[in-house]
Amino acid sequence: MLAGLKKSPPHDLALPAVSLEGVTVRYEQTVALEQVTLRLRRGDCVAVVGPNGAGKSTLFHAIAGVVRPQEGEVRIYGSQPGGHICVGYVPQRKGVDLRFPVTVADVVMMGRVGQMGFLRWPARRDHEAVRAALDEVGMGEFAGRQIGELSGGQLQRVFLARALAQEAELLLMDEPLTGLDLPSQEVILGLIGRIQQHGVTVLVASHDLNQAGEQFPLILLLNRRLIAFGPPEQVLTTANLLSAYGSHIHVVRSGTEELLLADSCCGGGSAPQQLSASSATQPVMQETLAEMRPPR
Ligand code: ADP
Ligand code: MG
Repeated sequence: MLAGLKKSPPHDLALPAVSLEGVTVRYEQTVALEQVTLRLRRGDCVAVVGPNGAGKSTLFHAIAGVVRPQEGEVRIYGSQPGGHICVGYVPQRKGVDLRFPVTVADVVMMGRVGQMGFLRWPARRDHEAVRAALDEVGMGEFAGRQIGELSGGQLQRVFLARALAQEAELLLMDEPLTGLDLPSQEVILGLIGRIQQHGVTVLVASHDLNQAGEQFPLILLLNRRLIAFGPPEQVLTTANLLSAYGSHIHVVRSGTEELLLADSCCGGGSAPQQLSASSATQPVMQETLAEMRPPR
């Protein structure tokens, strides 16, 4: 009985790590995801990009089993996602209540619940797993701090430690880099790379197309429907970006150059490469515009 609580369902490693088959999610009048079909292999590292409201968070909720699609199926190594211990989910920061009085170690220990079962107290091996996970992300000395005292980058590191302590095999991170300074972004990207090398399948939502194209081997471009999935050079084409961003993207041709300007989408988050349409007329922004050049 307890063993049933402790262990995740056996995985069939011959099956895709994640598979979505015709997944449609609606919230009352809104269609958030429409007929999304996707297969990920173990160890895939994917940036999920698309405009605000494209359904990125909804996709993660569907994969984590928090939201049940009205149509279609989600499978993780062939199993239904609900309560699946091997899925580590890092929510978008704006959705986290940082006033909640818990310490860093408590947050990471929450990742152990699935390994422990719900009916026993943490054992020494659980405390050791928490300590090791915090050390791995460089947050060992913050174990006793309240989460409300952390910077954005430190908080993301703690969430990564929770996924490590959980021994997650699938990691879903919803905009972990939004609002972080560049050094913190690099630390988080480095940690994601290390986790992925352990065979963990990783999905990271991002609204930074340049960073996604430079840092991730696979890009999933979403706007309610799946527009394209594959390596950056295949996905980040002008046609695909126009299809995903529609009226929010502007193609500017000058000579042989082609520049894409995206509307700033996420109010509050710092997205230096994403410019409001009106900035396009400001010469001072030209250098930034050049960064939006799509691969050919
Ligand atoms: P993204 O993460 O790409 O910004 P979301 O998945 O958050 O997109 O949202 C997709 C669409 O679904 C949006 O139109 C959003 O307003 C709507 N939506 C998301 N969550 C809810 C909800 N809980 N209730 C109603 N509508 C929602
Ligand atoms: Mg979102």
